[in-house]
Amino acid sequence: MVGSPIDGKQHALNLRGRVKLAVDNLKMHHEITPGLAVVLVGNDPASEIYVRNKGIQTKEAGMESLEFRLPEDTSEEDLLRKVRELNDDKSVNGILVQFPIPKHMSQQRIIETILPSKDVDGLHPVNAGYLASGLSGMVPCTPQGSAILIKETASDLSGLHAVVVGRSNLVGKPIAQLLLQENCTVTICHSRTKNLKEVCLSADILVAAVGIPELIKGDWVSEGAIVIDVGINRIEAPEKGLGKTRLVGDVDYGGVIKNASAVTPVPGGVGPMTIACLLLNTLVATCAQNNIEFSKLGF
Ligand code: NAD
Repeated sequence: MVGSPIDGKQHALNLRGRVKLAVDNLKMHHEITPGLAVVLVGNDPASEIYVRNKGIQTKEAGMESLEFRLPEDTSEEDLLRKVRELNDDKSVNGILVQFPIPKHMSQQRIIETILPSKDVDGLHPVNAGYLASGLSGMVPCTPQGSAILIKETASDLSGLHAVVVGRSNLVGKPIAQLLLQENCTVTICHSRTKNLKEVCLSADILVAAVGIPELIKGDWVSEGAIVIDVGINRIEAPEKGLGKTRLVGDVDYGGVIKNASAVTPVPGGVGPMTIACLLLNTLVATCAQNNIEFSKLGF
């Protein structure tokens, strides 16, 4: 069996289109324009690209995009002050501090300073608690995007065995919670897991969120499994020329697609869904803050 690629770009385009229609409704019927504030500290080149793309797609969705660029040597207190200012700003419905932040700052302190209702990255412990309790809150964007791709690929997830490789708060744990909500039987693997290959082979749905280039090989995947590759790793690509690099996931795409029924490519799989879900979260946050029923926006 040779599987099909899951076209994350197309799924993300559809989702962003639906968000835009709902934003248009919100503007027309409630005279509210959602506002997303993104704070970038320092000059990390990858973060610069992410922030630029977020700004472009936020505006395309009809939302207000606010960008705040702070120098690398900004003190933690100054960043926290900025976050509190955005917490108090009524025109801001969602706040995202782009990670990584400089090493002299505590990521956890920043996360916990963002109001849970404006935490569109879904990382505040209050939102993590809502997710773990099966209650509605802000769900982290990459796991949410991954779960949407899985649901749009397999119609009924109930009873399927989902194996999640990686247990970070950002990806592994939340995706495991989302799959549990879909009635999957979920196994979470991590760096200390024994017999990782055997566990992966037992998966109907396999999610890789590790950060090790092409860790998951073709013979780790059982016939017909759905494979979601969250990893983004830049590796050297001498075949493209001296000093050139390319992006690969945590999955050996060429090997895995021979056994799996569907696989997300890197790039073009999970990545595009992340920003689309950020926009969706901003819309959901705007509705919650204004006591508007999200479902009434025709989403
Ligand atoms: P992380 O470093 O916080 O967590 C990695 C996890 O992998 C840990 O739980 C660790 O226990 C596990 N792990 C490490 N080595 C392992 C091994 N040999 N076997 C099994 N498990 C192992 O990383 P993260 O933030 O969860 O990100 C994971 C990957 O996803 C990275 O490549 C990151 O760049 C990517 N990512 C992509 C997006 C996106 O938008 N597509 C968003 C966030 C992260």
